[in-house]
Amino acid sequence: MKVKEAIQQLRESLSPVIEAGELQAMIRVICEDVFNYDQVDVALRQDHELPDFAPERIAEIIARLKRHEPLQYVVGCARFHGHRFKVTPAVLIPRPETEQLVDLIIDENPDADLKVLDMGTGSGCIAIALARALKFAQVDALDVSRDALAVARQNAALLKTPGVRFFESDMLAPQPSACYDIIVSNPPYICWSERESMDRNVKDFEPGQALFVPDSDPLLYYKAIAHYASQSLEHGGKLYLEINQRFGNEVKHLLESCGLDDVRIIEDSFGHVRFAAARQH
Ligand code: GLN
Repeated sequence: MKVKEAIQQLRESLSPVIEAGELQAMIRVICEDVFNYDQVDVALRQDHELPDFAPERIAEIIARLKRHEPLQYVVGCARFHGHRFKVTPAVLIPRPETEQLVDLIIDENPDADLKVLDMGTGSGCIAIALARALKFAQVDALDVSRDALAVARQNAALLKTPGVRFFESDMLAPQPSACYDIIVSNPPYICWSERESMDRNVKDFEPGQALFVPDSDPLLYYKAIAHYASQSLEHGGKLYLEINQRFGNEVKHLLESCGLDDVRIIEDSFGHVRFAAARQH
């Protein structure tokens, strides 16, 4: 199978179900992540023969995308903060908004030797991106899911970031441990009642445990994290959270009621309330 034949087959089979611009972007990702052909390779090597596994792999990719499975699970990886992270259905696919959370932390914390904790690390994307960008940081990361931790550990190895320590632990009942300069979390924050209005590729494929909270207690994880942060942050230490845009004020009050100072609610680049930050007095 030639490069151009693979691309043609993807285009013909998927254009009835995927919009043209999105399909073009997906084909680019498939060429790069499955066959290691970047855009220049694709342009210059249209008649190049792909490896023997190509026809079978292309057929599988088409079938899975037709079932609305997210492309990142189909190809097994996702880009985050300039790196390629392995992803499986055991972990949330890292989102561009979360890159902004990482950038905010990097911008506001130029000091070296910071101790950082990522609560609910999933693929490890936040912990690993921070460990790579902050100077000599010691990064701990926890998750309740053993399968997620296995992926996160592989990512740390693949991205040659051995300094991150991973722990199996429930954010709702975290073990008392070291003092941290920075605690960060992108915990589950979507109410079950919002599920119906979500895209199929998210609600049918991404791990519900990483996404949803009961409608009766939408701040469930924030309460546990804020309480833990108020006990485990160094003086002047900082808490950074990704939040549900519906609950900015509630998160602000919660952080203040836990005794944290300088509470900020911050918008993402789309102008949506998306992050919260606070400081230990
Ligand atoms: N920390 C991971 C991320 O931001 C996982 C978050 C989660 O599972 N809720 O993508």
